[in-house]
Amino acid sequence: MKSSLVLLFLSGATLIHFLACSTSHHSTFTDFVNPLVGTDSEFTFSNGNTYPAAAMPFGMTAWTPSTNELGNGWIYQYKADKINGIKATHQPSPWIGDYGDFSIMPMTGEIKTDFTQRASRFSHDRERAQCYYYTVDLLDYNTTVEVAPTTRCAHFRITYPETEKAILIIDAHRKNSEIHLFPNENKITGITRSNRGGVPNNFACYFVVEFNTPFTNYGVWTDDEMMNESRTLKGEHVGAFLHFPSNTTVTFQVGTSFISHAQAWLNLKNEIGGDSFEHTKTKGRSTWENELKKIKIEGATDDQKITFYTAFYRVLLFPRIFYEFDQQGLQVHYSPYDGAVHAGPMYADNGFWDTFRAVYPFFTILFPERDAEIIRGWINAYREGGWFPKWTSPGYRNCMIGTHVESLVADAYFKGIRDFDIDDAYAAMKKDGTVPSPDGAYGRVGIADYIKLGYVPSDKYGEATARTLEFAYDDFCITKMARDLGYDTDAGFFGKQMMNYKNVWHADVDFMWGRFADGSREPNFSKIRWGNPFTEGSTWHYSWSVLHDINGLIHLMGGRDSFCAKLDEMLTTAPEFDFGHYGFEIHEMTEMVACKMGQYAHGNQPVHHVLYLWNYAGQPWKTQNWVRHAVNTLYGPGPDGLCGDEDNGQMSAWYIFSTLGFYPVCPGEPMYVIGSPLFEKATLFLPNGEKFEIVARGNAADNVYIESATLNETPWNKTWIAHEEIARGGRIEFLMAAEPNEAWASEEEAAPFSVSK
Ligand code: CA
Repeated sequence: MKSSLVLLFLSGATLIHFLACSTSHHSTFTDFVNPLVGTDSEFTFSNGNTYPAAAMPFGMTAWTPSTNELGNGWIYQYKADKINGIKATHQPSPWIGDYGDFSIMPMTGEIKTDFTQRASRFSHDRERAQCYYYTVDLLDYNTTVEVAPTTRCAHFRITYPETEKAILIIDAHRKNSEIHLFPNENKITGITRSNRGGVPNNFACYFVVEFNTPFTNYGVWTDDEMMNESRTLKGEHVGAFLHFPSNTTVTFQVGTSFISHAQAWLNLKNEIGGDSFEHTKTKGRSTWENELKKIKIEGATDDQKITFYTAFYRVLLFPRIFYEFDQQGLQVHYSPYDGAVHAGPMYADNGFWDTFRAVYPFFTILFPERDAEIIRGWINAYREGGWFPKWTSPGYRNCMIGTHVESLVADAYFKGIRDFDIDDAYAAMKKDGTVPSPDGAYGRVGIADYIKLGYVPSDKYGEATARTLEFAYDDFCITKMARDLGYDTDAGFFGKQMMNYKNVWHADVDFMWGRFADGSREPNFSKIRWGNPFTEGSTWHYSWSVLHDINGLIHLMGGRDSFCAKLDEMLTTAPEFDFGHYGFEIHEMTEMVACKMGQYAHGNQPVHHVLYLWNYAGQPWKTQNWVRHAVNTLYGPGPDGLCGDEDNGQMSAWYIFSTLGFYPVCPGEPMYVIGSPLFEKATLFLPNGEKFEIVARGNAADNVYIESATLNETPWNKTWIAHEEIARGGRIEFLMAAEPNEAWASEEEAAPFSVSK
């Protein structure tokens, strides 16, 4: 199914046309970014659940065409045939929803403000989605829209046909919006308070618009009423309409801020100023080029390049910058935690349950300064809200489990990234690991019982075993920090806690399982039942969630051979499932079946490290085979190119790491576990000015196995590589073969780090 749609979207003539559209003769990195990847999704089946964001790296405000009604998390669906506006969006996931959003829609003829009525037909043939530019022809209005984003603003250009009624609608969306018109200055300001929770009462997104063309007529509207020539309106759902002369090209700039209108004007001045539309577009293109050129791949097909650089773009969209620059050029932010404006950085929109696994480890290699600034943002969240977030959008959201900011702090720290307040970071980590939280939106649910019993009891809490496993891994991260900082008592405490994964191992059935507060095992064991005591998975998916002590898990599972046999079984057994506490087939279940990799459910995050685990037990060739298989079958360059929710870069970061040839199985421990590099050569251009080269000699579709390897020309017989080796620059070279070399890196000493190794 994947390949047929891939062909439909980008093969042959279409691809050539796509590349020929670039402004230079040589295709550049941005030409290979296809923001439409992942947009062929729906509630029941996710091929990514993405929208085609035109946005800057980590951009505060992104811009996307909207095909659905306001409030529908699937903002843009590839199969749709109508567009109802270009939306300013901050949405991190359709399951979380949008906030601070508003939309802009040109039309001709009658003024229509309703989402369905105002929508125009469009065709993918007359649409172009790029990371720094989006354009579409609105066929019903014979009008072309173009948008070029900056970090917090955007430049628009609308080309109207010959018509007496060239109209622009500005829709400030619901939840007490405001709109103010200043016709003499060709300006509009507005406020949108749209949100889905996780914000203080004074939350607002301020927007300002400045036109290059005077509007000939204007007014404001509500859902029920048009008010000609009125200039200001507040209400549940308000907007503005403007008229322009026939046959005009209208250019305008839109600024956004979470602080004030004055700040939005300042953002606009800082980011666009007097620039032309073309200049804004060119600047955006070069901003992206400067990031994407940090990885060069050789020997890739065009489809692979599109898949790779689109993944790279997705990894650089989240978390979003949530700070702005004041008159003095200093960072300031509206706090989604206490509602005040503070100095310093802030970021928003991240599900750490997803992103700790590979997104942040990726930042540590190529974006260490950004990584440190993001961590300073989470430390500010702790200072302003009292806790690290565990899901932000833009403030605390009660979603998923674990307190994984611990992971990314420890990962940065042990990779030498320490440009943040280590004392405050450690205090926040320790609080997560010890203090009961009054609210499920932060801290660890069941922490007191977890400390008392050594596990979260499944008769008292939902998702109890998943929590136990993830808390134990987070405790590993705290343990390492405590040891290094000389907090011996803490190190002893958390060092014991991190082994709690053993308490939910059920030896009678050889899987992780639920355990009641009285110590007994939860009855009615099922290998295929999703949900409680797990999260979005079954014990097939969660029994491997001991990232820091795979060696300990090997012992529990009866040794290296039976550990490998269990992995083999997971990949080959039937993808059966039981709805469990969900009560219906959630999309992750369907996606597991679509993966055609047995019980390996790559469409969701808990298994993302699992294909790398044969490396810990003497059978690395199986990792090589299955990683290559996943890379080739679960990712593609078209609208259905992902096999489950993209989730703030995690699905994409897995692809980037896995195609480069290694993966961060245990963030917090500065090492990566080796898989099967996809390209003949990949070069990482490091922030220290050096480069790290990954060469795969003899690589081919069938040559998925590592015959031998050298690191900086010395034979390399381990299944892992230290972060330091990559970060200081060098070269790892693999010789690839069609048959496994079972002698390469299969001894016990070749295995990666485990705490009980
Ligand atoms: Ca997910």
